[in-house]
Amino acid sequence: MRKNIVAGNWKMNNDLSASKKLAKQVAKLVKKSKVKGTKVIIAPTFVNLERVVKATKKSKVKVAAQNMHFAESGAFTGEIAPGMLKSIGVKTVILGHSERREYFGEDDALLAKKVDTALQHNMDVIFCFGEVLEDRKSGKQEQVVESQIKNALFHLEAAAFKNIVLAYEPVWAIGTGETASPEQAQDMHAFIRKTLSDKYGANVADEVSILYGGSVKPANAVEIFSKPDVDGGLIGGAALNAEDFVAIVNAF
Ligand code: PEP
Repeated sequence: MRKNIVAGNWKMNNDLSASKKLAKQVAKLVKKSKVKGTKVIIAPTFVNLERVVKATKKSKVKVAAQNMHFAESGAFTGEIAPGMLKSIGVKTVILGHSERREYFGEDDALLAKKVDTALQHNMDVIFCFGEVLEDRKSGKQEQVVESQIKNALFHLEAAAFKNIVLAYEPVWAIGTGETASPEQAQDMHAFIRKTLSDKYGANVADEVSILYGGSVKPANAVEIFSKPDVDGGLIGGAALNAEDFVAIVNAF
């Protein structure tokens, strides 16, 4: 059975004390929450990862990195290797976020390498992709999403998908306050699942969690999460407030 997942991407926000405080608040509210089966993940900046791992140790909240290099080690100034993440207890990494693609030039080929490295290290990957507004306006959203998935993931064996969560994030909805309608999200998620099913079979496709990301808030989460192919959310802005974030967790 695929899992329901709500993951919070804190991006470049929160210093150490704010990170510890927010992590503890999230852990406390998740403990009180009635929702049992949903996996909750938070992704602070690299420098605060270890302390957030410690702050959430006794809770059900898992901690992810927002990015990672594809190499094991070496002369890559400013970068972080998978072994470094694992050595501080971080087993999950977000790859392919649209901000990494847009501002740091990460393309499908580079992302394929990062995915491979993460899987070799037995890490879980939250793999993000999505179309820009121009693609949506010209009706090319499925074509764009299909090629992003194929180029970065379709060299993998079916078994690799046990460690992969997909996050469909239409770029025009990220941080803009504009959300895909629940129907737009469902249509795309069904298309993504069919794309996976055509390549790997229905059994694999049915087991992969597909998250929606793009201005999810407590007010719209229930409707979006009620769609059959939406298995949760990747949350940006609303993840910076513990009450809002856990209200989204409770939307299931
Ligand atoms: C994101 O950055 O992954 C995201 C979905 O951001 P927001 O929720 O702020 O749109």
